[in-house]
Amino acid sequence: MRKENGKSCAVIGSGVSGLAASIRMRNKGYRVTVFEANSFPGGKLSSESNQGYRFDMGPSVFTMPQFADELFTLSGKNPRDYFRYERLDPVYRYFFEDGSTLEGVNGKEAYAQSMANGTIDSKEDIFKYLEKTEEMYNLTDEVFLHNSLHVPKNFFTKAVAKGILNFGKIGAFDTMNGANEKAFKDPRLVQVFNRYSTYNGSSPFLAPATLNVISHVEIERGAYYPEGGMVSITKALEKLAKDIGVEFLYSTPVREILLENKRAKGVRTDHESHAFDLVISNMDVYNTYHKLIPSAKKPKRTLDQPKSSSGIIFYWGIKGKFEQLTLHNILFAEDYKAEFDTIFEKKEIYHDPTIYVNITAKHSPDDAPEGCENWFSFINVPNNQGQDWDAFIDQAREAIIRKVDRMLGTDLRSLIECEMVFDPRVIENRTSSAFGAIYGNSSNNKFAAFMRHPNFSKSIKGLYFCGGSVHPGPSIPLCLLSAKITTNLIK
Ligand SMILES: Cc1cc2nc3c(=O)[nH]c(=O)nc-3n(C[C@H](O)[C@H](O)[C@H](O)COP(=O)(O)OP(=O)(O)OC[C@H]3O[C@@H](n4cnc5c(N)ncnc54)[C@H](O)[C@@H]3O)c2cc1C
Repeated sequence: MRKENGKSCAVIGSGVSGLAASIRMRNKGYRVTVFEANSFPGGKLSSESNQGYRFDMGPSVFTMPQFADELFTLSGKNPRDYFRYERLDPVYRYFFEDGSTLEGVNGKEAYAQSMANGTIDSKEDIFKYLEKTEEMYNLTDEVFLHNSLHVPKNFFTKAVAKGILNFGKIGAFDTMNGANEKAFKDPRLVQVFNRYSTYNGSSPFLAPATLNVISHVEIERGAYYPEGGMVSITKALEKLAKDIGVEFLYSTPVREILLENKRAKGVRTDHESHAFDLVISNMDVYNTYHKLIPSAKKPKRTLDQPKSSSGIIFYWGIKGKFEQLTLHNILFAEDYKAEFDTIFEKKEIYHDPTIYVNITAKHSPDDAPEGCENWFSFINVPNNQGQDWDAFIDQAREAIIRKVDRMLGTDLRSLIECEMVFDPRVIENRTSSAFGAIYGNSSNNKFAAFMRHPNFSKSIKGLYFCGGSVHPGPSIPLCLLSAKITTNLIK
C-alpha cells in the first residue's frame, strides 16, 4: 500500500515521460491527476489503424527497456504481467545506391564481424570503435543522463571528476562525422554511424562526437521490440498508473498554469480551475512558457535555442511482401552531407532523402492483412518555419517512391492501398511540440546538453518539467530518465 502524503500533483500531458512522472509521484504518496489534451495517452508514442493496417505513429526503436521495467518494480508489480519484449537480431538492414547492403546485428563482436564482411574495414578496427563508444558512454552516462545538470551539488561527484579527468576521451572537440571519418575507411560505415545523430534530430556534421555513444546503446545494450508494437509501452504504463490510483482526464487541455506569489497553485482547463500543490508539465517547455504561463519571465536563451529536425511520415498499407526487408530498414541518400545541409541550412526537403522503412508486420503479423505489409516510411525534414508543407509532402512521396523502386526493383505506387501522412504541422498539433520539432532543441553544438531547460523552474516554486524538450533530452529512455530526475528533485 502506498502511504498517502495528503498532497496533490497535476501532470500536464501523458507522453511517456508524463506517464512515468505520474507513476513516480503516486508512489511518493501524492494524489496525481494527468490532464491530456488528446482523447488517448502516449503523445508521440501512440498508434492508429487504417483499413486493416495498424501503425505505431512515432517511435519504433525501443532501447534500455530496464528504465520502463523499473516503474513496475517500484510500484510492487511484475513488469512481465504488463508487457513483454524481445531483443532484435538483426536490428537494421542498410541499403546503398550501389546495390550493396549491410546488416546491423546484435552485440559488439557479431556487429564488427558482420560489418567487416561487407566493407573494407577490418573487424578489429570496427570492434575498437565500438569499445571506444562504450568507454565514452560509461564516462558520460551518470553525469549527463541520470542527474540534473542544474543542481550545483551534482557536480561534486566521483562520476563528474572521472568525466573531467577523461575529458579528452568524450569527443567534445570533434563532430560525429569528423570522428567517424577518422575511424573508418569505408564511406558506407561512416554513413551508418553518422545516422545516429538523427536519433535526436541533429546533423552529424555539426553535432559533437560525444553523441556517437548512441550507437553503443543500440548495438551493445540492444534494441527491442515490444509484443503488440511500440504502443504496448504506452498501454502498459497507462494501465500501471491507473492500477496504482492515478486519475486521467482525457480530451482536457490545460490552458493555464495558475500562479500565486511566484508559486504554481494549480491548472485551468476549458471548464474549471483545479488546485494542486505541485504541477509537472510534460508539455514541450517552449509552449509551456508561451501558452500556459505567458506573463511569467521566460528563460529566453534556453527557449530560443535552435530546434531539432522533424519528419514527414507516410503510413502506407502495402499490398505485397518484401522478403529483402526486415523490421528496421534504411535506404541511404547518396550524398549525406547535402541532405543534412538541405534540412538544417536551406530548411527544405532533399530530393534524394534517406528513407527509414519500419514494418511491424514482420514481427506482429496481425498489423497487416494476409500477404500485405504496414510501411512506416520516414524522411528527416526541417522543423516548421512556415514552409509549403503540402508541396513538400507531394515532393517527398515522389522521391520515396522513385528511390524505393530504384533500390528494391519494384513498382511501389501500384502497391499502396491506403495512406496517412504526418508532417511537422501535424506533429505540432497532435503533441504541442514547438515548431513540430520531434526532439526539442537540436544538438548541433557542443553546449547543447547544457542548454536544455532544467527539470524545474528557477523562478516559479512548485513547477517542474519532464519530457523530450527538457533535460536530459528526447527518446523513450531519456524521457523515462527525465521523469525520474524531475521527481527525485521533489522531496
Ligand atoms: C516519428 C518519430 C519517431 C521517433 N522515433 C523514436 C525511436 O525510434 N525511439 C525513441 O526512443 N524515440 C523516438 N522518438 C522520440 C520519442 O517519441 C519522444 O522523445 C518521446 O516519445 C517524447 O515523449 P514526451 O514525454 O516528451 O511527450 P510527447 O510524446 O511529446 O507528448 C506530450 C503529451 O502532452 C500532451 N499535451 C501537450 N500540451 C498539453 C496541454 N496544454 N494540456 C494537456 N495535454 C497536453 C500532448 O497531447 C501529448 O500527449 C520518435 C518520435 C517521433 C515523432
